[in-house]
Amino acid sequence: MKKENNKKFYIKTIGCQMNKSDSERLSAFLEGNGYKETSKRNEADLIFINTCGVRQSAEDRIYGLIPGIKRENPNAKIILTGCLVNRTDVRRRIEGSVDLWFPIVDLFNLDKELNKIWDINFNKNDDNFSCRDDYLKVSPKIDSSFSALIPIGNGCNNFCSYCVVPYARGREKYRPVKEIIKEIRDLVKIGYKEITLIAQNVNSYSSSSTDFSDLLKKVNDIEGNFWIRFITSHPKDMSDKLINTIATCEKICSHIHLPAQSGDNKILEAMNRKYTIEHYKKLILKIRKKCSLKKFILQEDLLPVSISTDLIVGFPGETKKQFENSKKLFKEAKYDLAYTAQYSPRYGTTAYKLEDNVGKKEKERRENELLNILKKTAETNNEKYLGKRVLVLVEGKNKKGFYNGKTCTYKNVNIIENNKKIEKGEFIMVKIIKTMDFGLEGVLI
Ligand code: SAM
Ligand code: SF4
Repeated sequence: MKKENNKKFYIKTIGCQMNKSDSERLSAFLEGNGYKETSKRNEADLIFINTCGVRQSAEDRIYGLIPGIKRENPNAKIILTGCLVNRTDVRRRIEGSVDLWFPIVDLFNLDKELNKIWDINFNKNDDNFSCRDDYLKVSPKIDSSFSALIPIGNGCNNFCSYCVVPYARGREKYRPVKEIIKEIRDLVKIGYKEITLIAQNVNSYSSSSTDFSDLLKKVNDIEGNFWIRFITSHPKDMSDKLINTIATCEKICSHIHLPAQSGDNKILEAMNRKYTIEHYKKLILKIRKKCSLKKFILQEDLLPVSISTDLIVGFPGETKKQFENSKKLFKEAKYDLAYTAQYSPRYGTTAYKLEDNVGKKEKERRENELLNILKKTAETNNEKYLGKRVLVLVEGKNKKGFYNGKTCTYKNVNIIENNKKIEKGEFIMVKIIKTMDFGLEGVLI
């Protein structure tokens, strides 16, 4: 039985979907042990900071955040988790301000660890959490009422030379199929409409002879009215089998996020990405050919698949000519969306030893050039939506008071409708009447 204690906790999450999902599990675990979540930082007894170390800018947020917390709520215990937990240099810098450095994979030991910093011996709830071998077994307290992030595993084996994730999260470890399917089935039963499978590298999923494509098929077979997304796919593991599965399963959304990181073979090699740009471009063509105009759950006009990417500018030694190849890639791939990043040296990675010799101004210039190409390709792609009837999953209302949501192709849609009440998490049919570079406008059908 759940026992109460009168302590409150607050969680600040920085970074990716995986961190967001970890925070949902952390929150559920604490509530299972009698703590209460608060949205007010100044009234919390425990303040968790779920950190990101992917770029220096994310790391720097911690250095600004902690003094602010100390001023506002000096008695709160500060607990640091996430990507920065194992970084000795970070520890040295803020050791005195942090009460507990807590790796999220130790979630089942959190109660014990808190007892050490906290004078009270709060009541444990061992009935709920008797299994102590894998933190992903904890049922999360999901933030949204209709959209759920489902981690299918944790960690990364790829060691891209610029990336801190394999050091921060350790080696890949995947959850058993049964556990994943049960979690999704339970959520669909209570009305969840969007299931997003997440891992650093979803398509290297493997568990008792089930690969990611098999897993997607099993999720697709779950009865109910919902759609499936997944991030992130690695180009080296994007098999024909997986592309065919995406093309044929009617609940899988027509949006593929396929990070290229660079358009130049020399840079890709230095990044340790393990594919060539020719391989990557062939994948894009295959995906466009196979996955466009696919039949989707509820009837709507058929849509071209949308493709997005991540790309780093200013990797050590990236010449202007090599950057031109990234521009060429952007023009050829005709992305719908891209997350561009200026290279940020990360302590402990292989690239950290290389000279960060592309200046800040030049990185900014390169990033802007890519964003200008992206705006054009996204705008041209969106023009194909004009007059189309599309299915939209409603997410809420925007600042102008219009309902908004997303298509299966991950396009933002503003719905011009003020009279009818639409529920968050509802699938609705919309006719597109206006298109922009990163958004669409439509009316209810
Ligand atoms: N696993 C995914 C993949 O292989 O594409 C990416 C995960 S990583 C946490 C998210 C993105 O952050 C990367 O795709 C990359 O573009 C960016 N990133 C990672 N390390 C970076 C660095 N040192 N500097 C700039 N951007 C970086
Ligand atoms: Fe980082 Fe590369 Fe792993 Fe992605 S695949 S998390 S970029 S090491």
